[in-house]
Amino acid sequence: MRKTTNIIHSIPVDELTGSISVPIYQTATYVQQAPGVNKGYDYGRSNNPTRNVLESIVAKLEGGNAAYAFATGLAAIDAVLKLLSTGDEIVAVDDIYGGAYRLFTHVYQKFGIKVHYVDTTDATNISTYINEKTKLIWLESPTNPTLKISDIKKIAAIAHAKNVLVVVDNTFASPIAQQPFALGADIIIHSGTKYLGGHSDLVAGLVVLKTKELAEQIKFIQNASGGILGPQDCWLLIRGIETITLRVERQCKTALQLAQYLQQCDEIAEVFYPGLPSHKNHLIAKEQQNGLFGGVISFSLKENTEEAATQFVTSTKYFKLAESLGGVKSLVCHPAQMTHKSIPREKRLKSGIADSLIRLSCGIEDVEDLIADVEQALEKIKINQAVTI
Ligand SMILES: *Cc1c(COP(=O)(O)O)cnc(C)c1O
Repeated sequence: MRKTTNIIHSIPVDELTGSISVPIYQTATYVQQAPGVNKGYDYGRSNNPTRNVLESIVAKLEGGNAAYAFATGLAAIDAVLKLLSTGDEIVAVDDIYGGAYRLFTHVYQKFGIKVHYVDTTDATNISTYINEKTKLIWLESPTNPTLKISDIKKIAAIAHAKNVLVVVDNTFASPIAQQPFALGADIIIHSGTKYLGGHSDLVAGLVVLKTKELAEQIKFIQNASGGILGPQDCWLLIRGIETITLRVERQCKTALQLAQYLQQCDEIAEVFYPGLPSHKNHLIAKEQQNGLFGGVISFSLKENTEEAATQFVTSTKYFKLAESLGGVKSLVCHPAQMTHKSIPREKRLKSGIADSLIRLSCGIEDVEDLIADVEQALEKIKINQAVTI
């Protein structure tokens, strides 16, 4: 069975009724025949049949032992952090998702968990920070918003030699463009809000585990802490996943075409897209992402000001100005004023986020329309410049 067939047919037909759509079990509890004698379900936080279907599909999608669904991507990240104890350390990619940085710094630091932020695009940097307290390497590849790529296979070899687990937040690549377990990862995180859901209509998170042992630990934490995804959103996420291959392949194809277009625009200073040979880590991306480079592109303007970026992001018609990514509708975002506003400017500039850096999330619209949209928005910057001169 090939990939897409496998995804579609990993979603079971309901045994009770033959319903081709997974039933939504909207229930808090389950009636028992005698105390402790039940049909495998006793309470809604612990187990829900709709959630179980979602979890088994995502486990299959990533080739893992098990997956667990949480209320948001951050709740999924939080569950993984709960594997640690006071004194443990993490080595994390330096331009980590802002919400993960906030959680590590403002919640877990006070419990004595230390995080070293490292440029993981050079795998050898990691060895320097691994010591006997290190428990996790935390990677994102591609990163947000400058789309840096880390060599997961190489990093996993370094980590495993020291008995350290490798976590990959696979949100930006999606399971269609990248399979971290095949590259040596032990734990995969998804913000289901993005490509898994794919329609910008829910927030959700997943933790996927390679081994049964890790699966049991996360299952325990999921039930103990309780940040589960409700049955309605589980159903909606299953519905989104049904079309993930079509969506992501289209989004990646569009992004590559758009990145090639942007690269030859006079108004643009630099384009960040792992699919372009000019990208610093293009060869690694090519090898570990099997020809799909993601649906997100970033670029900076020659007119390197927040004003010019604002002009652009308020001029696009199809790229809607909003945070988030991965949906069927294209989105545009200005990180300096939106997703990365809380990071001090100096630090932002150091990690490559220029004042004018703009992030595009390609949807599934016709690429010709998206290119025309970008073209007319760039034209507005030119007109605006001419007026101010
Ligand atoms: C959005 C995102 C998250 C957080 O997910 P939420 O569903 O918003 O909580 C984590 N990691 C990455 C890479 C993301 O893009």
